[in-house]
Amino acid sequence: MKVVKQLERWGGVVTDGHFVYTSDKHGPAYINFDVGFTHPKFLWQVCRALIKPYKGKFDVIVAPATGGVALAAITWVYAWMFWAKKVKFVWADKGDDKQFVFERAGFAKTVKGRRVLVVDDIMTNANPQGSVYKLCRLVEASGGKVVGVSIVVNRCGGTAEDLEVPRLSQLDTVDSSLFYALTPSECDHNKDGLCKQNVPIVDDVGHGAEYKAGHPDYKGGYVSLLS
Ligand SMILES: [Zn+2]
Repeated sequence: MKVVKQLERWGGVVTDGHFVYTSDKHGPAYINFDVGFTHPKFLWQVCRALIKPYKGKFDVIVAPATGGVALAAITWVYAWMFWAKKVKFVWADKGDDKQFVFERAGFAKTVKGRRVLVVDDIMTNANPQGSVYKLCRLVEASGGKVVGVSIVVNRCGGTAEDLEVPRLSQLDTVDSSLFYALTPSECDHNKDGLCKQNVPIVDDVGHGAEYKAGHPDYKGGYVSLLS
């Protein structure tokens, strides 16, 4: 499914910016799935495609807050309407220490002993610092069995092996020559680093605001993308 192309048409993809990602790395490109929520037919097709590979193979859909929750909820409604009356849906909230927790009443109990499909929109990081990896470990710690991870866009090229799950599926991927990420130090020292070239940093997406607070004197300055 050409999700990225479609989001690009709607302004949900930027490739010439300077972003600080949630991994704290810097890069020029950013995808925002939110614009997809303003196009119901597209959204419905995305949700159908997300669960198709797992039909009959899971009991609970689990999503990480906040990004994946609305999408996973609609995916759950799709499953419920068309084939799975007993499928349940819960989400994990972000605790103070950046770890996920099932803090809503009954959520941890819903996962226990059940087959779980993890759903999220854009996966930017498949390593142990990433939301999806952390969520899979929370599900296991709560007694659930992760049967797979279904994401809309695999932005980082992560694998099922990286996530330590039996199966990973995605609807789309990105051009890795545009979606690279450098450490702050690399960005500041490499010849083609955006910090090195004094490109203004976007301060209202990802971790831009945190970076700005820690580096108020950045020589390239800051810009806002969303406002
Ligand atoms: Zn930079």
